[in-house]
Amino acid sequence: MTMKKLSLHEPKFAGNEWAYVKECLDTGWVSSAGKFVDRFEAELARRSGTKHAVAVVNGTAALDLALKLLGVKAGDEVICPSLTFIATVNAVAYQGATPLFLDVEETTYGLDPDALEAFLAAETEMRDGACVRKASGRRIAACVPMHALGHPVRLEPLLAACAARGIPVIEDAAESLGSSWRGRPLGSFGRIGTLSFNGNKVLTTGGGGALVTDDDGLARRAKHLSTQAKSDTEAFWHDAVGYNYRLPNINAAIGCAQLEQLDGFVARKREIAALYRRHFESSALRLVWEPEGARSNFWLNTVIAPDAAAQARVLKALNAKGFGSRPLWAPAHRQPMFAGCPRGDLAVTDRLWRTSVNLPSSASLADDEVAAVAAAAREAAA
Ligand SMILES: *Cc1c(COP(=O)(O)O)cnc(C)c1O
Repeated sequence: MTMKKLSLHEPKFAGNEWAYVKECLDTGWVSSAGKFVDRFEAELARRSGTKHAVAVVNGTAALDLALKLLGVKAGDEVICPSLTFIATVNAVAYQGATPLFLDVEETTYGLDPDALEAFLAAETEMRDGACVRKASGRRIAACVPMHALGHPVRLEPLLAACAARGIPVIEDAAESLGSSWRGRPLGSFGRIGTLSFNGNKVLTTGGGGALVTDDDGLARRAKHLSTQAKSDTEAFWHDAVGYNYRLPNINAAIGCAQLEQLDGFVARKREIAALYRRHFESSALRLVWEPEGARSNFWLNTVIAPDAAAQARVLKALNAKGFGSRPLWAPAHRQPMFAGCPRGDLAVTDRLWRTSVNLPSSASLADDEVAAVAAAAREAAA
């Protein structure tokens, strides 16, 4: 049997995408205003369990705006994982702030609350109501945990460590739309959550992103800043340096159609994860699984190989068969721009990077395709 090539994650357009896009073209509402933007935001807020959602051009812009809205400035430090897609860290740099890397947990791939609490207790002190890192004298202005691969970080201890010191939390929920923790959607726990609708995410608008929040003022300000901070639409007065970050209506139209299918996508992705789990039972590869209390969207299925050599063998064997697979993102502290940034111990980050393999995980995968990928991976790892 020859298998067709499988991508790591491909979009699926099986609903009203064509009809809604046609409506945009027919009516001329293609740009940054229109009913699909409003509808997409209302539906996103409902799905996220937040009062507001503000749709923007991509997830990176959402992170950029979120950090600005919470007052992160040049000279500040922002805690984030090193094991993340580079956008999380770039957005910190856009503010002129410095990322401060702490380690992740083996079980969730997300920021480790114990490492965070230990670091904050040992390395920081409160000065005039701000949490300051003693070695640098700089304020820790925010913490940006990332819910990796669709699985939640351990939220309660992480939020508690930050709340005790007045550090606002922005959840980078780019990969976790449709995931929840104790029944509550990810992205709704911090002051702001950010989402991405890039082509490889669980749901796509082509390019797109959003901020979700319960805070009326933050939502209003996000909308204002993302539309050039216009204070007078007739005479072109602006009351701040704004950004052209609003999501176009034509992208929101695709998003509305995709949201109608989100439950189906997540249900199928959870089936695929369960299939992988069965196929990897009693093998050398361990499949990353959702923590107890979570309901993950299983955006990407990931296995941990016993060592770096096994990781290389699995990647090579799968890609040779046309099964799109890749390692995790090279950690940010190893990238040239961020190599000099302050950090805690990053042993788990480095180990997971050198042993993890992301497997084809599209909602459109068939059962026999999952079986073929798993068989090839097992054989290469053995
Ligand atoms: C995809 C992603 C982003 C950025 O989203 P874009 O829409 O591509 O700008 C940010 N953070 C994480 C963790 C992501 O996976």
